Amino acid sequence: MKDTIKKEKRGLQDDFYFTKHRFEKAHWHEHAPSPLQFQPEYLNSPEFIKNGYHCEELKDGFYWVTSGGYDAAFLVTEEGVIAIDAPPILGENMLAAIEAVTDQPIVKVIYSHWHSDHIGAAAMYGTDVEIIAHDITRELLERFPDPLRPVPTQTFTDSYVVELGGEKLELTYKGANHCPGNIFIYAPEQRALVKIDIVSPGSCAFMHCDASENISGWIEAHDQILEFDFDFLIGSHITRWGTREDVITSREYFHDMLAFADEALMTMCTPNGAAVFFSIPPADQYSVGTENWVNSMVNYVTEKMLTKITSNGQKWEERLAGVTTNTKYHAYTVVESTRTERSHKGYQKRGTGGTDYFV
Ligand SMILES: [Zn+2]
Repeated sequence: MKDTIKKEKRGLQDDFYFTKHRFEKAHWHEHAPSPLQFQPEYLNSPEFIKNGYHCEELKDGFYWVTSGGYDAAFLVTEEGVIAIDAPPILGENMLAAIEAVTDQPIVKVIYSHWHSDHIGAAAMYGTDVEIIAHDITRELLERFPDPLRPVPTQTFTDSYVVELGGEKLELTYKGANHCPGNIFIYAPEQRALVKIDIVSPGSCAFMHCDASENISGWIEAHDQILEFDFDFLIGSHITRWGTREDVITSREYFHDMLAFADEALMTMCTPNGAAVFFSIPPADQYSVGTENWVNSMVNYVTEKMLTKITSNGQKWEERLAGVTTNTKYHAYTVVESTRTERSHKGYQKRGTGGTDYFV
């Protein structure tokens, strides 16, 4: 009898952790196919299928290298190669891509930011290269050492120009966005801009605003990208390089979301609006009210985003890949960041029971 009760209890626990209270499984047939512009030809080429990467000269010695999900870049000069980033998923294919177009050695490496998924193969460049990055990137890599991500040898605070063999790359830092220390890398002659983990051309970006830390800074970075005069944007995800139009489209998607998040908060996050979700809570189940409260705001924003007819007459799922799966994750992040990073539009006044502010 005791054993049976024990088993039943364990059964309930298994349900709790693995069955009942989980994220839903996504099914292919329930989602829109990706827009055609998201499926470039190289993805089906025999070379790509065999080598696992694709490399293209964008202009005058500036090359884009992609795994079909992650991008890096390099600039060939008469005195050597400047490599930008080292995603582990490209790994030594980055070396193969460089060796396929030049005999010049790699002499300088630039880190866009400190994240391992973008520079976690940097050790492959060897110990003779100069590594350039932002001060914060060095600080973070010293604090959390990783032999695969050697500490930068040259860092800067606001701006820095990398010069080699008559070519140059302009590096600038405009504050935290995706993460602190994430820089802009601009090739003025080639009109190419590398700005990683902000815009994913043709897509609405990976979950939670590309797993970013400062969402206000991340959305603002769209405008900062547009301040540069470029024809080619390397965003690093997912299948192709981007244009100014891609940046403008991504900005419109997230500006729509900001507006709907504001509506959701003014409806469900004011003292009266939030009270509905906590009106009959057993004291120990406050988190149930919290989950329903937050998810209601997220579902409101998601529904508005998925049904909106946008500025060109299409729905978002017709304009960008990933919309029907990722919108709810972005909505969660944008709702939370609006609550934590933006104005609360007021606060409780003494003895009045004011209600027109976010709680
Ligand atoms: Zn990152």
